[in-house]
Amino acid sequence: MNSFSMQSTIAASVEISGVELHGGKFTNLKILPAEVDAGINFIRTDIADRNNIIKVVPSSVSCVLNCTTLSNIAGVTVSTVEHLLAALAACGIDNINIEIDGNEIPAVDGSAEPFLKLIENAKIKKQSSPRRYVKVLKPVEVSIDDAYAKIEPSDQIELDVTIDYDDKAIGIQNFKITPDLETFRDCLAPARTFARFDDVASLRSCGLSKGGSLSNAIIVDKGKVLNPEGLRFFNEFSRHKALDLMGDLYVGGPVIGRVTTFKGGHKLNHALQVALYGTSDSWKFINL
Ligand SMILES: [Zn+2]
Repeated sequence: MNSFSMQSTIAASVEISGVELHGGKFTNLKILPAEVDAGINFIRTDIADRNNIIKVVPSSVSCVLNCTTLSNIAGVTVSTVEHLLAALAACGIDNINIEIDGNEIPAVDGSAEPFLKLIENAKIKKQSSPRRYVKVLKPVEVSIDDAYAKIEPSDQIELDVTIDYDDKAIGIQNFKITPDLETFRDCLAPARTFARFDDVASLRSCGLSKGGSLSNAIIVDKGKVLNPEGLRFFNEFSRHKALDLMGDLYVGGPVIGRVTTFKGGHKLNHALQVALYGTSDSWKFINL
């Protein structure tokens, strides 16, 4: 695990741009260092007439349909934060300001790899205050239909993700990982988001996935992967779900516990967080 005892930010500002997966617009991100205890904050630079700062905390999660959306009390939102947050989690970044001129993080290649490279290029900078971890003290479990998620005590962060899709190109897959910077870089960061071809049409009819393409998502149809380059891992789908889980968990900060999900997704990840943080004796803050 990333057993950093001190808080971290980045040493220099860095920028990345790209097309939004759902909105389809081109957005620009600038990631800047922040002071000790500042936390992770999105700043909507295209909004000037109301509060444009969205804090990355569990109470900011406002929508978990297809992606994770955060909002502030003025109703200002930022969507599809999970892949960037997973990269920040892997690098142990606690304090950072993320300026964005739209309401959705660019999809880049559908994975967290470009965000990881961006943060590593900016260099991780240790700060002078101890890091605060969420230590899980007793098991918490949630279920939605036949999907379930559980978080339980462990001495490190562990993810155990099982998915089960009708399409034979995906099927049943399991992926287990104890994510640290190295295992994240090699095993999770490159795993891309995915969708079934038929679902893309229905997402588009709802105004979603407008920027989705074979260059930023794996598309499967009737047992086949449509991307000409194929998969990056035979089990890229379950790896991506583990990446999403890691990003969603980081909304609450670094967690020490074992998380198991079956047929998971953003909705289940959020339900697990609500259950965990809603049960005061199931966790506590610790320093290492
Ligand atoms: Zn994802």
